[in-house]
Amino acid sequence: MDSSAGATAPVLARPSVSAEGRARLFPSATDAEWTDWRWQQRHAVRNLEQLERYVRLAPDERAGVQETSSLFRVGISPYYLSLIDPDHASCPVRMQAIPVRAEARVRPGELEDPLGEDKTRPEECIVHKYPDRVLFLAIDTCSVYCRHCTRRRITKGGEAELTKDQMRRGIDYVRNHPEVRDVLISGGDPFLLSEERLESLLAPLSEIPHVEMIRIGTRVPVCLPMRVTDGLARVLRRYAPVYVITHFNHPKEVTPEAREACERLVDHGVPVENQAVLMRQLNSDARIIKELSHVLLRSRVRPYYLHQMDVAEGCEHLRTPIAKGLEILQQLRGHTTGLAVPHLAVDLPGGGGKVTLQPDYVIERGERETLFRNYKGETYAYPEPEETDCSCPYDEVWQARSRELRSQGR
Ligand SMILES: *Cc1c(COP(=O)(O)O)cnc(C)c1O
Repeated sequence: MDSSAGATAPVLARPSVSAEGRARLFPSATDAEWTDWRWQQRHAVRNLEQLERYVRLAPDERAGVQETSSLFRVGISPYYLSLIDPDHASCPVRMQAIPVRAEARVRPGELEDPLGEDKTRPEECIVHKYPDRVLFLAIDTCSVYCRHCTRRRITKGGEAELTKDQMRRGIDYVRNHPEVRDVLISGGDPFLLSEERLESLLAPLSEIPHVEMIRIGTRVPVCLPMRVTDGLARVLRRYAPVYVITHFNHPKEVTPEAREACERLVDHGVPVENQAVLMRQLNSDARIIKELSHVLLRSRVRPYYLHQMDVAEGCEHLRTPIAKGLEILQQLRGHTTGLAVPHLAVDLPGGGGKVTLQPDYVIERGERETLFRNYKGETYAYPEPEETDCSCPYDEVWQARSRELRSQGR
């Protein structure tokens, strides 16, 4: 077989966690069914009775499914279910998909709208929190409902796509706000939309002159990789620049199928970035985050954010101390490829927005020099220059010139 066709080569025959799980749990599914994302959607496990058919639940999990059933949705694609370790309740896939009792307990300080989005929500589907970019909530369903979901107030609702009218109002909002140059489409999972519906969103958005780029936040490459068809990738490429931001949290999720999905996007000219969420006892370890970054970079996926867990309802048991994230970054920076080091982000409760943290490498900031500690703990000095005027004289010329070029449409 032509090795350059790697992104489209069949992966089902290769030994992998997913192939093993599929053979055990869905032995009668044909290849055509298994690789059909709509079959996966139809066969998703959505309640305790269905779940117990496939997984021997721990008492804490059984109670968790029961006690959260009126609060948050459960939904697991057969593919993601096939990654679950049948013997260990601490399996990272299992922990992200199956509720435990702690999730039913809302702790003091936990918020239904942890990021204060509803107060900057001028339309049903628009969150406009930052000056030059908006979040466009295009759908409220997912292929797998994450136990750590930060928008569960949206995903817990009654399975509905945005109406055509709501979508039009969202697009109008962007059109009427020339300061918006970046639209981040999220939900729910936008890749559960049909290609036609996705196009009916991408086409008008990309035609708006001030919209310079579009991003799509999705867990489909992780939870439903068969959805990433050539057809989908071609649609995305048509409206470039479209960046896909996906959400792998553990190297176990980076299966041959998941890698193929990511590489198919990249092969079509669609860059893929990853945002992971730091979760206690799931990936809260520098070794795991490093392995995740490495395996993602090998699949041409760039680690973007490592998120401190939001104070969403029922997530307390998954939160790490702030110091843990900093410790992890410290164990990455300098020790491995700079591209493998994500930004550590805290999205401030109540709507403050994201801030990033990094270990403090400055020992002392003097007038003549700054003293640093490097990644090995050694001390180095960086001297200040004589001149400190940092204004850029050419910039006025350049701004005038680029205005001129723009007005000529160049
Ligand atoms: C995270 C987020 C964005 C995008 O932030 P970046 O730092 O540009 O990736 C935009 N809008 C909202 C509401 C967000 O939460």
